[in-house]
Amino acid sequence: MNSAPFRRTKIIATLGPATESEEMLVKLMEAGVDVVRLNMAHASHQWTRDVIRRIRAASKKCDREVAIMMDIKGPEIRTGDVVSPIELRAGEVFDFSVKPQVEGERAEEVRSVDVNYRNLVNDIRVGDTVLVDNGLIRLEVLEKNDARIRCRVLTPGELKSRRHINLPGVRVNLPSFTEKDRGDTLVGIEEGIDFVALSFVREGSDVHDLRTFLKEHGSNARIVAKIEDQSAIDHLDEIIRATDVLMVARGDLGIEIPLQELPVVQRRAVSTCLAIGRPVIIATHMLESMIGQPMPTRAEITDVANAVYERADCVMLSGETTVGKYPLECVAVLDSIARRIEREMATDIDEPAVFLAERMKLLRSAVLMANELPNSVLVCFTRRGITAAGLAAHRPACAPILAVTDSVDTLRHLKMVRSVEPYLLQPFGDPERTLERAVEMLRHSGRLKAGDKIVIVSDVMTNANVRIDSIQLRTVE
Ligand code: PEP
Repeated sequence: MNSAPFRRTKIIATLGPATESEEMLVKLMEAGVDVVRLNMAHASHQWTRDVIRRIRAASKKCDREVAIMMDIKGPEIRTGDVVSPIELRAGEVFDFSVKPQVEGERAEEVRSVDVNYRNLVNDIRVGDTVLVDNGLIRLEVLEKNDARIRCRVLTPGELKSRRHINLPGVRVNLPSFTEKDRGDTLVGIEEGIDFVALSFVREGSDVHDLRTFLKEHGSNARIVAKIEDQSAIDHLDEIIRATDVLMVARGDLGIEIPLQELPVVQRRAVSTCLAIGRPVIIATHMLESMIGQPMPTRAEITDVANAVYERADCVMLSGETTVGKYPLECVAVLDSIARRIEREMATDIDEPAVFLAERMKLLRSAVLMANELPNSVLVCFTRRGITAAGLAAHRPACAPILAVTDSVDTLRHLKMVRSVEPYLLQPFGDPERTLERAVEMLRHSGRLKAGDKIVIVSDVMTNANVRIDSIQLRTVE
């Protein structure tokens, strides 16, 4: 088997003006994007519906499935509109208003901007830090009343409309799943999204609430929990257990916690995910300089390589593919770094992790067998993706996991899982016949050839007509 076309690490690209046309979508898919992300901070419902339909059409056109992840914004605080940008000067006193201003206040000649969260005055304390626009502008709270928060500007900058506010260390009492999130998610459910990414997850119950909502609305979408602040770090283990996928959302995380903590948290998040078999995404600023330049910085190359070495499932592009000048080049750069590092790692065969569940022990045996057979391929049959994800959790050293499923939903969900190449085969029937048809399909597509060793995880029928799990070693004829 030729394993050269195989990349273990999955690529997620955020859509925006640079990539939302059908032509660019086809090019992104052909370049190897596995998942597309819709950032609901900047999306109307009409845009969302249109773009999802366009993604599915592009996917048909180039015969490549992608998963769609809708990223809802959670308890996000933003400044209001300003007529023209406000130049904030160092030392200046500046107000964040949560209620319409009264005449007397205006007479004080303190400049101000509205904030979209009324209760902010109750959550924030004198002495707290307010960071605006990705931390570019820094202010300190001097005093507050029920209408406004008065601050001193510590780091000056230009304040434009609807800028994101971060409040390091402040527990914001907004619900984790807001009214806007409900509206956005309902549109996503109607249009058949595959993943919902929940921003600013603070504890496991935030994920449970979203899961209940998805169930109530008949959605099979998987949940991606985005860790972005100290509260998420404090509850990391329970969040990882509650979610289907974790995202290390380094943009906000890098503002909300001391910067030197960021790599420590990334490493801890990835290793905790690996230990319980949860897929994990490393997001934000992977190739930030390529928004304007055709080449990444050397530090970015190393950062991407590090995520692959850490054995994360996915790497994600944001501004690089929404507004960047070189979206396709960014995908090509991620692709080439991932392949190179994965080749390097293939000689370094780690013992697969040990999981408690009985079925995981069976899957571990299959991975151990594949690790010991050079050039072998793992093939599994998976309706809900559990077997494929279970094999992936053991991080096979060399073998790809060809996951054959009869469900398009599962096929798309597996687009986020490291080392898994999903294939659709409908319908499943008698296990032996299904296996024959799968091998035929994989041979026909060039994925397998005569002589290849395949380690198969599938059901077999006993003489008593009972299905049991099996691991088989076969050679493709
Ligand atoms: C992040 O903060 O890194 C992130 C992915 O979230 P958003 O793009 O919503 O800020």
